[in-house]
Amino acid sequence: MPEDLSNRIAAGEVIERPASIVKELVENSLDAGATDILIELEGGGKQSVKIVDNGRGIDRDDVKLAFERHATSKIYTFEDIHNITSFGFRGEAIASIASISRIEILTRKNESLSGTRAVVRGGRVEEIIDAGCPVGTSVFVSDIFYSTPARMKFMKRDSTEQTHCVDAIMRLALSNPEVKMRVVAKGKTIFNVPRTKNLSDRIALVFGEDFGRHTLEVKGQRGDATIRGVISMPDRTRANTKGQFYFINNRFIRDRLLNHSVISSYRRLIEPRRFPYVVLFIDMPASDVDINVHPAKLEVRFRSSGDIYSLVTDTLSSALSGMSTDRSELSGPSFGVRADAYRERVGNVLKRYTVLSGTEKKTFNVNVSEKGMRKAPDSFGGREGGEELPELFNERDVSEDAVNFSSLNYLGQIAGTYLAFSSEGAFILMDQHAAHERVLFERLKVSTREMTHIQGLLIPEVVNLQPGRFDLLINNIDALKAVGLGVEGYGENTILVKQIPAFLTGCNIEELISDIIEEVEDTGKTENATEIKDKILALMACKGAVKANHKLTDSEVAALCKDLDSIPFAATCPHGRPTYAVLDIRDLERMFKRR
Ligand code: ADP
Ligand code: MG
Repeated sequence: MPEDLSNRIAAGEVIERPASIVKELVENSLDAGATDILIELEGGGKQSVKIVDNGRGIDRDDVKLAFERHATSKIYTFEDIHNITSFGFRGEAIASIASISRIEILTRKNESLSGTRAVVRGGRVEEIIDAGCPVGTSVFVSDIFYSTPARMKFMKRDSTEQTHCVDAIMRLALSNPEVKMRVVAKGKTIFNVPRTKNLSDRIALVFGEDFGRHTLEVKGQRGDATIRGVISMPDRTRANTKGQFYFINNRFIRDRLLNHSVISSYRRLIEPRRFPYVVLFIDMPASDVDINVHPAKLEVRFRSSGDIYSLVTDTLSSALSGMSTDRSELSGPSFGVRADAYRERVGNVLKRYTVLSGTEKKTFNVNVSEKGMRKAPDSFGGREGGEELPELFNERDVSEDAVNFSSLNYLGQIAGTYLAFSSEGAFILMDQHAAHERVLFERLKVSTREMTHIQGLLIPEVVNLQPGRFDLLINNIDALKAVGLGVEGYGENTILVKQIPAFLTGCNIEELISDIIEEVEDTGKTENATEIKDKILALMACKGAVKANHKLTDSEVAALCKDLDSIPFAATCPHGRPTYAVLDIRDLERMFKRR
């Protein structure tokens, strides 16, 4: 196969769009030890891309080599490929780019008196001459895709391509905080980050200060793998997973397993179909991960994906539950809000809790002063421009007894669904179903752990399943058992339910079983037993909870309040909907125009 053709085929794989060129070239600059990189884009990168770095430059003799495929200065032996630390290692990028465009390189090494200018078009070297230039390398790419016009047709509008370019640069900026990067498009600076000492500062610069005020730092370890980064608090979410950034050994990657593990860590803290923001750096021995799956190198294969999954869920869950004993600490000036400050901030809803003891009433010392919260993100000054926060997470004081539910003054039921309460300085509305659901969910978690409150049925219930569901249910028989559902196979598509949690007595078991099947049906392979169990518990809590449009007696309301006080987390139902809302004195004043 002619060299030129194989280059073009390789280019098709590696160079999808201008952003791919930008990524490869900036990575080369980083590999060359640059601390200052300028990126200039014309026409969203379709017209031209220019990268100027202050790295170590290329030897005159090596310039020509750089245009040849598999010419890399980064691997010497075959073993090296398993211990890759630099970005480039295939020696493919420059040759590929050269085969589909015109490249002009100007480069000088520190110790050389003069530099080199080289021009390559369509893979053919047109010129290599001495040239005066500063130390470092500048690569100018134009006539992009001139040799593959079909590819050009797939390009999107300038603005779209430019966004892709900036995305690629932003990722590299996150993983290389000590490198200054500036992007100029049509003569205007559109992205500019100075050198920063640490990741936290860099994240603040890339995402903006407002984001910083809604994040938690996380840090964890499992075996040889470590994780660190920041994650958004449950009050800051978006409708897709585009706010999730993962770096394995400092290399940006996409991975469904990681997406999944993050989302599952937030389960029951944020609403369904909402996604958190995360910037996570996972480091592990290079031999435990295969980053060589695709030439664009965005995908990886883990040697032990189960461990990575657990590393993420353990670290994130513990930060989010506020029960972490290990204080997350990244070096340098603090970014975002530390876990303890966060705890304090949402203390009124996310109560710290260690032991849950039956129905015994507990009074919590709920700290809603938020002093820690206001102090921690000093560097993130003003509040303007942020999205409206849900009432529950409002950054201001809520009178203390507003959240000690038992001490509230019950006013009455609205529309058979909402319970109204008053306290010294606030008016509180509660969704009776959501609140009860949360209570049951928390109770269930404890009772199933201890296997109490399980009731054998005198007459087992025979349940006919939908066609094809039998195996699905039987495969999860252990998970069912773990939540107090004793089930066994009976006929071809029939099961026997022999045991249920006591509080579900009288509920429609057939409906419960079919709902459970639906839950486990869309359960990913990676979910572990605990997660499946939690899903089923949430479902059972929903089944058992008092419905809307149901009259509650005063003593039932009192019992509900007492129960809410006894559980560790009362702000949302297990599906993430809020259980109560507070109108405090300031809201009332505003409402009646006294302020
Ligand atoms: P790879 O990065 O996989 O080695 P490339 O095709 O991207 O392959 O680059 C080929 C070689 O050219 C590199 O190994 C490196 O020696 C040299 N090179 C490319 N860009 C630069 C740069 N900005 N500064 C210094 N050397 C560079
Ligand atoms: Mg490279």
